[in-house]
Amino acid sequence: MYDLIIVGGGIIGCSVAEWSGAGFARICVVEQDPNTVTEGTSAAAAGGVTPFLGDHWAGGLGAMAARSRDLYRGWVKRVGAKAGRPLHVRHTGLLQLAIDDVETDRLQNKVLPHLDACGVDATMLTGDEARRREPLLGPEVRAALEQPADLAVEPMRIMDALHRALRADDRVEIVYARTAAVAAAGGRVEVVLADGRTLHGERAVVAAGHRSGGLLERHGVPAQVFQAVKGQILDMRVPRGGAPRYLSDMVTHESGDERVVFVTPYRGDRLAAGATFERHETDPRPVLTKARDLILPNLRRALPRVADYEIVGSRAGMRPRTLDDIPLVGFVDPDRRILAATGHSGLGLTLAPRTAQLVAGLLEDRAPLGADDRADLALCDPQRFAAGASA
Ligand SMILES: Cc1cc2nc3c(=O)[nH]c(=O)nc-3n(C[C@H](O)[C@H](O)[C@H](O)COP(=O)(O)OP(=O)(O)OC[C@H]3O[C@@H](n4cnc5c(N)ncnc54)[C@H](O)[C@@H]3O)c2cc1C
Repeated sequence: MYDLIIVGGGIIGCSVAEWSGAGFARICVVEQDPNTVTEGTSAAAAGGVTPFLGDHWAGGLGAMAARSRDLYRGWVKRVGAKAGRPLHVRHTGLLQLAIDDVETDRLQNKVLPHLDACGVDATMLTGDEARRREPLLGPEVRAALEQPADLAVEPMRIMDALHRALRADDRVEIVYARTAAVAAAGGRVEVVLADGRTLHGERAVVAAGHRSGGLLERHGVPAQVFQAVKGQILDMRVPRGGAPRYLSDMVTHESGDERVVFVTPYRGDRLAAGATFERHETDPRPVLTKARDLILPNLRRALPRVADYEIVGSRAGMRPRTLDDIPLVGFVDPDRRILAATGHSGLGLTLAPRTAQLVAGLLEDRAPLGADDRADLALCDPQRFAAGASA
């Protein structure tokens, strides 16, 4: 009998376990893949903590993600201390690059005014100003939008530290098995494993990434809410003196196809260059040739020297996308026993500490909630997808 059972040992499930308060004396994390620490989607993330990047931050998600970014330093310091290995956050800032008129116009006349209206620190730079900040940028870069508050982290190290921290915590047991069903029964929860065992608990959290649909469907969240979007990145070795200073992001459009270049500097002699968006791909394994073909041409236009760095590996994962690109964080059953913490799409690394903080508050029935908590929970309310809801 557990106080809390968490299905999924990715960054969201582990963060929830790590953040849950002393009131939870017995916590079980059920994970189907013993290699998830190094090979799961969370370990495949690039490592940008970038609340206001992409198309979906307006309408509240950016504000929630910024709150998560504000928690990051303290959170990784605590996780690193529990794991016995310090974790580092790099205060790099973000440059969103433009190499054509369409993207320059979008950043200048659509994104920047919107960021200004939301009070986000952001500045438009000319190509030359951007090259002075980031000397690795190529001559094609004609403008850049700088967001100085953004952070770079190393997802594989965070995943490793989270699992170490949980293994060192006497309250936590990690069970490697596939969960077949999560059900409320007699004022408790039952987590049925595919090997025939049943775990019993007071409460359960479904944090199964892109596979959450199968577990939440019986609780009124239609399975088609979740769509997995495969993403790949390349790991590269940085030669002496060749480390980027910034996180860099660039979107290009080629014959209706949108490509994204995203470069994350890590500590030491490594960086990650990504990322692919392979919407109809179902095999989560990395395919180096495809990653190279999709990433390198645009990387060469944005940061030409970096495109020639040695590729030392590739990683791949399935982004747990939802129909509206907003996560699900909240109870899914009337008795408030089963909670969803999933659907973080391409922002799960960024949103992990804030998600864990919100889930901890819900699990402890903490009240009264502050205005920010209420706003984030209203935004992520799973009930928006419940049968008959208008979303
Ligand atoms: C290439 C790429 C780059 C990215 N870059 C960034 C970035 O720079 N910044 C950012 O914020 N986000 C980024 N993301 C997004 C981020 O990686 C995800 O949002 C995040 O990892 C989702 O975490 P999760 O814990 O919900 O899912 P997962 O990491 O998929 O974890 C879910 C876990 O549940 C387990 N599971 C599933 N079903 C079951 C079951 N039935 N029983 C037991 N266990 C089960 C799985 O094995 C898995 O380990 C990127 C994603 C990709 C693919």
